[in-house]
Amino acid sequence: MEQSTRTPALPPLPPAPGGQTHPSVELANSVVVVPGAEPVDSLATPAEATRWLVEHDLAPAGVELQQYCSALLMDLRHHVRSLFGAVGDGTEPPAVALRAVNDALVRTPTAALLGWDPQAGWQRVAPHPTTQIVEHALASLAVDVAELVTGPEADRLAACEAAPCNRFFVRTHARRRWCSTRCGDRVRAARAYARRSGAPTPA
Ligand SMILES: [Zn+2]
Repeated sequence: MEQSTRTPALPPLPPAPGGQTHPSVELANSVVVVPGAEPVDSLATPAEATRWLVEHDLAPAGVELQQYCSALLMDLRHHVRSLFGAVGDGTEPPAVALRAVNDALVRTPTAALLGWDPQAGWQRVAPHPTTQIVEHALASLAVDVAELVTGPEADRLAACEAAPCNRFFVRTHARRRWCSTRCGDRVRAARAYARRSGAPTPA
């Protein structure tokens, strides 16, 4: 058997700040680069993409997605990441990323439907499609992107500065630079090591 040279896997990072309220942040962070290991992609296979959608309440349990669904999600993720990067840097977004988000927005209606029942009376009811499940998930994620980048949290959207981490997060305070305590600790440890060894100090 081939000897593994990989470092032991760390437990998964907790969701980055903003991820709990913005599924699009979770989408952007669904591929994670961890130091000394292979990137971990939660959408790599149809089974993993299905699990991710169900966990994020974007698809009903028991559904089975196809390969093309997984590919569509990964494609949207790619564009959301470049759009979030532009938001974080305050630069013009790539036209192709903007188009991809807008295409996803209009794939299928996401508006809550009007419902009535004898106990609850009138209410708005989240649609639970039984077809076009991936289209509905893509549209819901795109709605969240649009709300995030035009809302009050937009200027707090940032990329983690603790390379090689590639996660986005919504800053909980203006000076926050890292997505997690683990990333902050890693940067501080690298700085301390650089000071002791006289090597250039990492940012
Ligand atoms: Zn990080």
